[in-house]
Parts: sequence; structure tokens; C-alpha cells
Amino acid sequence: MARSEAGSAVSLVHAPQFTDEELADLNTKFEKEAAGTIIRWAVDTFHPHLCLTASMTDAVLIDLAVAVEPSVEVVFIDTGYHFPETLETVENVRRRYGLNLRIMTVAAQEPELWKADPENCCSAVKVGQLDRALSGKEAWMSGLRRSEAATRSAAPIVARDLRGLVKVNPIAKWTDLDVKGYIKDHDVPVNPLLDQGYLSIGCWPCTKPVEPGADPRSGRWSGSDKTECGLHY
Ligand code: SF4
Repeated sequence: MARSEAGSAVSLVHAPQFTDEELADLNTKFEKEAAGTIIRWAVDTFHPHLCLTASMTDAVLIDLAVAVEPSVEVVFIDTGYHFPETLETVENVRRRYGLNLRIMTVAAQEPELWKADPENCCSAVKVGQLDRALSGKEAWMSGLRRSEAATRSAAPIVARDLRGLVKVNPIAKWTDLDVKGYIKDHDVPVNPLLDQGYLSIGCWPCTKPVEPGADPRSGRWSGSDKTECGLHY
């Protein structure tokens, strides 16, 4: 049984179990494998009890994943606080790939939670919706990369998350140049805010453009010591 945010149990009927040693062996192997090979393993092992979470900064992971399995479920968490450009990107990407897209919509709060309770906003808004999206799943994929921030530099390619689900980061070892090259070579849709200096794009109240040469995630929650919303713990 896996734990959900609300403390209820998420039933996993036939989730393949991996020991710590098996996960370590997979990581060693995947360090030498291409992202498509890692995604192929995730699809063969978990699909259809597998999804991919997308922030819609770009569609690189989506492009890679639908090439392996066109029906893979893509989850976007609509916090209600996204930039209009991000919502446009969701629609562009959905149309381009004919996605099996699941949008998790957060009910509007009054007063707005990011003002009333910024400490708990991410966990209530984002992590709660991710828990809902992962109910019944055995594994999920994200586009997390080590080069995005010092706090992500040791991110594994495959791990067990706090719910007990398998979390796969197929492009963990990609550099910013790798991403740019792939976008160019494959004409991948990107969020237009990237051209305005927003190198990591989250909710508008908590995202600023990044200074040239700075950590790509330094525009997230700038002015506070927060570095992660909790989705990737
Ligand atoms: S990024 Fe900001 S607005 Fe979005 S869920 Fe987190 S605290 Fe709330």
C-alpha cells in the first residue's frame, strides 16, 4: 500500500516491487542508457499504471515519451496561478501530440492561498493534486534534471518516492545544451516565457526571470529559502 497526502491508502494491485539493491543496479545501468531506452523500460514495466508529469516549460520529455508510447498519460497540475503563456503551451502541446492529457484542476480559494498561507500553498495545491493523479499508478516520470539546480545535482534516474511508487527521471543527466539541441532538432514546443528569461516556470506569484548566468531555478520563490515545491521529494 502506498501513502497519499491525506493519509488514505492508495491501492496498488500488482506493482512490481524493487529492492534498494535492484534500484541501485538500474541506476548504474541507466547512467549509460539513452532517455528513450529508460522510457521504454518504464513503459514495458508499468504502462498503463504509469504517467508523466509536465510543467510545460518545454515538451522535451513528452516528445520522447510519446515516441515510445503515444497513449502514455500526461498530467498537468493547473494550480489556478499559471501564467497565460503556460496555459497556451498546454494547449499547443496537447494539439501537437494528440496527448492523453489529464489536467488536475485546483478549486479557486478565497483568499488566495499563496497570499494567505504561502508556506502550505504548494503542498495543498500542487502535492495534493499530484497525490490524486497518482492514485492507482505504480510509477511516474518527470523531466527533472541534475543541472537545473545544485539541490538537484545528485538526483537519481530511478528511485522510490515517499508514496512507495517508482519515480523515473529519464533526462536527469541531460545538460541545458542537450535540452536546447533536442528542442531545435525535433522542433519541440516550448513555453514562450523561456525567451523572456524565465528558465524554470512555475506559478506567476512565485516565478521571476533569471539573471544571466544564474542557476536556472533561482527565479523560483526568489527572496525566500524555499527551493522545491515538494513534488519531487
Ligand atoms: S508555486 Fe507559489 S502559487 Fe504555486 S502552488 Fe506553490 S506557493 Fe502556491
